[in-house]
Amino acid sequence: DVTATKGNEFEDYFLKRELLMGIFEAGFERPSPIQEEAIPIALTGRDILARAKNGTGKTAAFVIPTLEKINNKKSKIQALLLVPTRELALQTSQVCKTLGKHLGIQIMVTTGGTTLKDDILRLSDTVHVVVGTPGRILDLASKGVADFSEASTFVMDEADKLLSPEFTPIIDQLISFFPKSRQIMLFSATFPMIVKHFKDKYLVKPYEINLMDELTLRGVTQYYAFVEEKQKVHCLNTLFSKLQINQSIIFCNSTNRVELLAKKITELGYSCFYSHAKMLQSHRNRVFHDFRNGVCRNLVCSDLLTRGIDIQAVNVVINFDFPKNAETYLHRIGRSGRFGHLGLAINLITYEDRFNLYKIERELGTEIQPIPPTIDKQLY
Ligand code: ADP
Ligand code: MG
Repeated sequence: DVTATKGNEFEDYFLKRELLMGIFEAGFERPSPIQEEAIPIALTGRDILARAKNGTGKTAAFVIPTLEKINNKKSKIQALLLVPTRELALQTSQVCKTLGKHLGIQIMVTTGGTTLKDDILRLSDTVHVVVGTPGRILDLASKGVADFSEASTFVMDEADKLLSPEFTPIIDQLISFFPKSRQIMLFSATFPMIVKHFKDKYLVKPYEINLMDELTLRGVTQYYAFVEEKQKVHCLNTLFSKLQINQSIIFCNSTNRVELLAKKITELGYSCFYSHAKMLQSHRNRVFHDFRNGVCRNLVCSDLLTRGIDIQAVNVVINFDFPKNAETYLHRIGRSGRFGHLGLAINLITYEDRFNLYKIERELGTEIQPIPPTIDKQLY
């Protein structure tokens, strides 16, 4: 439950009194779950990769430890809070100013679309925390106007956006202006593969927080195979012959296709049930009951069954048709992970599905790899 807290209080973190005052004046009574997870770790200086739903208080989760660590006696930039948009930069700097109201910390916000001259002037005076968007920050750093050589905190909010291809070259350059011993914190609601690359490249033993794992893809190895529509059945046949299927569920995107595919599979000589929304409920129940009891090895179905797939014996799920959205994908192949079952998910991807594959991978922060010639039985 992402709303359940551990019962911590802001007083538990030994924050400066002035910071606590700011927090309480902002109307925060106690830390939200993401704040409970992130604040104590962030205060130790460890790198963090934190994932939590929108509206759960991620901003304060990084602003509070960032402010706590600033030494206002030192006239140097000590932290950068990087965000993808101008509006978010303004909003984030506002949160800094509100929470840090009594700290005597100088906060500067800078984004594209304003004159560089004003920023240069501002930076000639003391600035402790810079909040801004990538292009402008890089500009200031490259020109030697903003000095990050003693900035020990680097936060990226909406990190998945900041690590998308349009920004990565900028981020790479920006990081080179930071000292070696910086703390990097990434916050986002989603962690796509690109974040993993960044993590491996720059983060040191990051503490990973994930408050979104109601349904997880843990234990599920995910593959895709590029196929043409007319090759799909052939491809499925190959999979059947190569994989050691205990039981499998095969998803199609329409009722018609469920019936057609079930027929094909039977013709190929494999046992198969099917179930879809247009069948009588009593009939569907019987199919599901029998499948669960192992009467038949394979089940072809549409999305009506997506929430019922936590059948221990199912070790392979095949998306014969790739789903349209991440939620459906998650429900088709996601498991609670509680019992640590392993499983295999195989996605047949047509040319039209390519973009969707990338999108779903990004949204779920998961990795779907090209199918290898042989699949290790240990994985499922
Ligand atoms: P996120 O970045 O996770 O989407 P925000 O940081 O924007 O969420 O916070 C969402 C809202 O919750 C804001 O209005 C913020 O002021 C409020 N908020 C954050 N932390 C607390 C807290 N500990 N107590 C009460 N309200 C909070
Ligand atoms: Mg946010």
